[in-house]
Amino acid sequence: MPLPAGRPGSPAIAVRGLTKTFGTGDGLVHAVDQVDLEVADGEFFAMLGPSGSGKTTMLRLIAGFELPTSGTVLLGGDDVTRRPPNRRDVNTVFQDYALFPHMSVAENVGYGLRVKKVGRAEAQQRVEQALATVRLEGFGGRRPTQLSGGQRQRVALARALVNRPRVLLLDEPLGALDLKLREEMQAELTAIQREVGITFVFVTHDQTEALSMSDRVAVFNHGRIEQVGPPAEVYERPATPFVAGFVGTSNLIPPDVAETLIGQRGTFSVRPEKISVVDDGYAAADHEVFAAGVVSRVQYAGATSRLEVQLDAGPLLAVLRRNDVVQSGDTGGLVGRKVRVAWARRNAVRLGDSGT
Ligand code: ATP
Repeated sequence: MPLPAGRPGSPAIAVRGLTKTFGTGDGLVHAVDQVDLEVADGEFFAMLGPSGSGKTTMLRLIAGFELPTSGTVLLGGDDVTRRPPNRRDVNTVFQDYALFPHMSVAENVGYGLRVKKVGRAEAQQRVEQALATVRLEGFGGRRPTQLSGGQRQRVALARALVNRPRVLLLDEPLGALDLKLREEMQAELTAIQREVGITFVFVTHDQTEALSMSDRVAVFNHGRIEQVGPPAEVYERPATPFVAGFVGTSNLIPPDVAETLIGQRGTFSVRPEKISVVDDGYAAADHEVFAAGVVSRVQYAGATSRLEVQLDAGPLLAVLRRNDVVQSGDTGGLVGRKVRVAWARRNAVRLGDSGT
């Protein structure tokens, strides 16, 4: 039976009040807890969060490998909550790729088409096209064991793309690759997604990956989404202390200190790179907030140095400085120096309460 085409104008994915619990009694875990989320057609969407925050469970609920405890999953506007995985217009790329070792690359990629009884000529053409999309022309005859990690990852991607799903789910797709290959594949994945125009939803615990690859990021914590938005918004305007701390480094200014320094109530976050350090008594242009402190530590890190400044008012701040400002040779001399830190009022972001 053909899959329903979906309703025009509907989001690719919509989940409403989605909850999945495991276990009972004292062992009860809310893996996904009352989540509402929409992903638009053609979006590259990241689900970011620490280990155990519910990202994989969320992906499995969308794919249909898990049934929710409550709530609904809509794909293209159709309620698919009770529909099995093979009747959803979704494909999943697993972290371990799950390639068949006894089949050639072309057979692996064409497997889904054989199951769907797509004709031989069309299947062959689609397999070739999928291999070209992932830049693996000419590799069809090889076995997975004769490929590098990055190439296997591409085969897994081609095997999903060949089905032309509406939505592609990727669980830590680059997790098994070394750093250099990972960076290469990040760029490739983004380019491939733009080329094919399919909605990509990928799970990662790597904030750099989420920020650099996706159109929007959802930050998970304890089965809930604490913030959803474009990478720049999530980084520049974190909604909660958890998001401020998990995505990038953040300085939290507690309410009592914020009231003195900023003149407002609430917990604020200031990013290390937004803070200037000036010698005691000097002013900094465009900065309205000043606090006195002492440099307690300097860590040299190539292009930048990370300074820690112990404020008289209490908190310890991390400050990033370019090394044309702080010379590597004299960083030692900075420790113990009385300074003033300063930042523009707009760079102090007020945080809401965490969901937990
Ligand atoms: P990771 O990044 O480590 O993969 P995650 O964010 O994907 O973590 P999940 O795998 O979704 O997290 O797990 C969320 C919570 O649900 C965890 O506390 C986990 O132990 C629990 N959980 C997941 N699957 C099951 C299961 N089949 N039975 C019992 N508990 C489970």
